[in-house]
Amino acid sequence: MSLDPKRHLSRQIQQIPRSGIRDFFELVIGRDDVISLGVGEPDFSSPWHIREAAIYSLERGETSYTSNLGLLSLRQEISSYVERQFGMRYDPKSEILITVGVSEAIDLAFRALLNPGDEVIYHEPCYVSYNPSITLAYGLPVAVSATPEDDFALRASTVESAITPKTRALILNFPTNPTGAVIERRELEGIAELAVQHDLIVLSDEIYSELRYDGAEHTSIATLPGMKDRTIFLHGFSKYHAMTGFRIGYSCAPGILTEAMMKIHQYSMLCAPITSQVAATEALRNGAQAARQMHQTYTTRRNLLLTRFRKAGIPCFAPGGAFYAFPDIRATGMTSQGFARELLEEEAVACVPGDAFGPTGDGFLRCCYAANTEALKEALDRICRFYSKKIRP
Ligand code: PLP
Repeated sequence: MSLDPKRHLSRQIQQIPRSGIRDFFELVIGRDDVISLGVGEPDFSSPWHIREAAIYSLERGETSYTSNLGLLSLRQEISSYVERQFGMRYDPKSEILITVGVSEAIDLAFRALLNPGDEVIYHEPCYVSYNPSITLAYGLPVAVSATPEDDFALRASTVESAITPKTRALILNFPTNPTGAVIERRELEGIAELAVQHDLIVLSDEIYSELRYDGAEHTSIATLPGMKDRTIFLHGFSKYHAMTGFRIGYSCAPGILTEAMMKIHQYSMLCAPITSQVAATEALRNGAQAARQMHQTYTTRRNLLLTRFRKAGIPCFAPGGAFYAFPDIRATGMTSQGFARELLEEEAVACVPGDAFGPTGDGFLRCCYAANTEALKEALDRICRFYSKKIRP
């Protein structure tokens, strides 16, 4: 029997595309010669003391389920960390939910909030999962552009122009994947006022918030007037603590929203893996120094990359955060897809075409500099050589 997608698959799943990043990386599989600046994850293994905590936990036989919300000891650590780092206080017993990465938290939040046809505003270029996660929760994704002319920072006026009576929520991500953009406090305040005025819930994905450069500041929107009661603050361990494979993150939100998200989580996931929760507890208790060292390395690599691009005449705005650069390749006259494919074929370097993150990203390339420094240097040689060939054929 042959299955008919129209009959046998849900309308929601038929609507969403495969991730442009994954499609591109299928081309790389099996090619050992390729240097990849593609995948958005640290090249470091998780720090040893974190791995050791996980190993000891397994050795003690800690292999059970935990509470649906997650280990109380981890929620208490998160509560203190979020208060110290961001200035918000959440009750570990009722306002914090441990999830399988920020990815799960995004899905839970949209499923908990949306009714069919509710609109959600997101800024693009952005992390590839926002648009499909809204669609899968029966919402309508409404994209607004964060433009290169504004160094990819979002303007409150842009958000305002997209609000309709059907708008229920807004998702923000600063510092941003894929551009590394940060947002000025003034614009964030404008957005917060709009959220209050139009009674919107804000999902604030702050997974890169510790990874900032050149003195860039970070304010969580949850700290602005009237916002704590309408913000779902999302954070995790994948990036700053180099723990992608542990699949662990969390949300902090008012009790009513946390309870709603927890109900979905308890039926779909039950709880996050206990080993990962123990490892995350160790990261918060003793991980500051190792994380600072990795951050220092990213800073050096970022500066190296910007210097090399500048020398080669490749326009690239200085990212204030995360671990991505988003160089502008428009002067070559090529599309992002064309540039990325030929770069891969001719120079064996993999970067993600900017339009994988939304149409505003066309003409740009995402380069992740959380890659081994020697490999990064070689990749930069090759990118600069390729760019100068394309600009002066
Ligand atoms: N949010 C953003 C902005 C990301 O870039 C990523 C991963 O690349 C995630 C969330 C997913 O993180 P996690 O590994 O915690 O699921």
